[in-house]
Amino acid sequence: AQVGVVIVGAGPAGLVLGNLLLDRGVDCVILERRGRAAVEGRARAGFLAAHSVRVLTEHGLGAGVSARGRAHGTCLFRSERGEFTLDYGRLGRGEVHTVHPQQELVRDLIAEYLRRGGELRFEAEVEEIAEGRVRVRGGEDVTGRYVAGCDGHRGVARAALTARGVRTARRDHGVSWLAVLAAAPPSMAAVGYALHERGFAGHMARTESVTRYYLQCPRGTDPADWSEERIWAELATRMRTADFGPLREGDVIEKAVVDLRSDVLQTPGAGRLWLAGDAAGLISPSAAKGANLAVLQAERLALALERALAGDEDGLAGYAAECLPRVWRAHEFSHWMSGLLHGPAGDDAEARYGRALQYARLDSLRTSRTHQDFFAENYTGI
Ligand code: FAD
Repeated sequence: AQVGVVIVGAGPAGLVLGNLLLDRGVDCVILERRGRAAVEGRARAGFLAAHSVRVLTEHGLGAGVSARGRAHGTCLFRSERGEFTLDYGRLGRGEVHTVHPQQELVRDLIAEYLRRGGELRFEAEVEEIAEGRVRVRGGEDVTGRYVAGCDGHRGVARAALTARGVRTARRDHGVSWLAVLAAAPPSMAAVGYALHERGFAGHMARTESVTRYYLQCPRGTDPADWSEERIWAELATRMRTADFGPLREGDVIEKAVVDLRSDVLQTPGAGRLWLAGDAAGLISPSAAKGANLAVLQAERLALALERALAGDEDGLAGYAAECLPRVWRAHEFSHWMSGLLHGPAGDDAEARYGRALQYARLDSLRTSRTHQDFFAENYTGI
């Protein structure tokens, strides 16, 4: 039997899409490679933009976010020139983030999808997508009038599309982050960005007992080389705890190296295969946009697929036309953020020039209300 839409991948993109399609009476099935516990336990993003919260709330998916999410509207910058705070929630459009760990969002979305009667197959690894036919490893093929590739950046959907000649635009930002999850309460009331000649360090709240930290590290770094002692010592140096007070330390629960890369597919789909989330493009984590773009794209793709199934294929072309400019705005800001956070290494003339620009950018953000409004609008906007 053929379903309306086969969704590959149960991350934020696939799960928002599945819930919205069920809402509209479109029959769909989600195929997910991993087991439920693994999917529900994967800690990644945490900052939801106001637009994402609106989408969730409007479609009856916001109970968890409104019960457990916490509003967040302040960030601070530290450097050799001191510290300043931006109440970005009162600047720009006056929007805040909601802190809600990605694994909790995924848990909420799975529970709601199943409650609505949706079909979700775990441990169903898709090996190949050809037209509407989806091959599952060791299982029967599943066919749909459309296939939604929501299987992340290394998934088969993206590969199927690029094999058809769809091109990508890409940038390697040339830096990597050691992403650390610590069993420790947040050390500051704000998102913290520290600029340091040893490299960037970041602090982001997750829950009352878990905090995410980032340390810029050389490409090719092995996380095993970073012991707990080394992580806390380096964070203390770069966050300048001697000047601003100690961090609240705890056990390191997870550490992984993320290379800062971005890319965007020229078009997020063709024919019967349409992509959303990381499958359609990867955005460097410097401005925390990835999960939010996934929600935006899933929302728009749900509308387009509903129209297409009713016989109006223009909606799918419209999906690409509508999303791409917003995706590019997010990339532009992320790229700007990356330039703010990472100074060049070394002490040659080029490096000195690059670092001076970095501080000029920071200074502009510290002193110009116009710049602050621009920052806030882009930081929270999608
Ligand atoms: P994914 O979450 O990757 O989901 C894809 C799913 O598809 C997975 O469950 C996978 O198992 C499944 N899959 C893959 N291949 C197959 C297959 N062949 N068959 C079946 N299933 C398959 N974003 C933010 O907005 N804010 C942040 O603060 C933020 N912080 C981040 C921190 C880190 C350390 C990282 C790594 C990312 C962060 N991001 C952040 C980015 C965000 O996590 C991703 O953009 C988001 O998960 C994308 O959702 P997705 O549904 O497109 O893909």
